[in-house]
Amino acid sequence: MQLNELRDYIGSLLAVGRFRDYCPNGVQVEGKSEIRRIATGVTASQAVIEAAFEWKADAIIVHHGFFWRGEDPCITGIKKRRIAYLLQHDMNLLAYHLPLDAHLELGNNAQLAKRLGINVLGHFGDQDIACYGALTQPQSLQQFVRNIQDLFQRTPQVIGSESAQISNIAWCSGGGQSFFDQALAHGVDAFLTGEISEQNVHVAQETGVAFIAAGHHASERYGVQALGAHLANQFGLEHRFFDQDIQV
Ligand SMILES: [Zn+2]
Repeated sequence: MQLNELRDYIGSLLAVGRFRDYCPNGVQVEGKSEIRRIATGVTASQAVIEAAFEWKADAIIVHHGFFWRGEDPCITGIKKRRIAYLLQHDMNLLAYHLPLDAHLELGNNAQLAKRLGINVLGHFGDQDIACYGALTQPQSLQQFVRNIQDLFQRTPQVIGSESAQISNIAWCSGGGQSFFDQALAHGVDAFLTGEISEQNVHVAQETGVAFIAAGHHASERYGVQALGAHLANQFGLEHRFFDQDIQV
């Protein structure tokens, strides 16, 4: 298919225009116009870009691309190397940040709900990125953390009592720790996100609401994979996900 078709399809699927984001969503680096093979990855790191090239991908789709608000806009250092590599090999880079957290079926948060057995009851936080819901099977914090560990292949950092019963939960993939205070308003037993900040520890201890920091990268693997699988299915493209075992 043509790059423009792919860009327009994803743009409308993920309702890209609805979001105020920290980076551009869509084609960030333009390469060849004919797309047959799409590689997906969490972050457009040099390792993911090179692995995608080895596999002869025409386009790479990631959650964390380039050109973040507040970063030095100059194309120097590692950014120069990554962009030069893409241009040299005529590969497209497409990035989808908040639209890929929020999508109700393919998004990171929807995918976490599906994989961890949570019924989504509603959304909250800036641009409704975060979710709250109920576990299909209430369980101890220890059991729930074990399920996350099995899924993510990484040991989460947990503030809370292992024997506490968890039924209602709020979550936000990646760096969602700033949503913890708003999550408390939904009467949840636990909050799951990728990262933890110092103040979250005190709030968790003093409210008794468990805080689970399961890894930024680890919690954001599933949205982009679901998007890649959807595109492969929809358009007969070849798709492969390129992971990195970076334990964050
Ligand atoms: Zn992220």
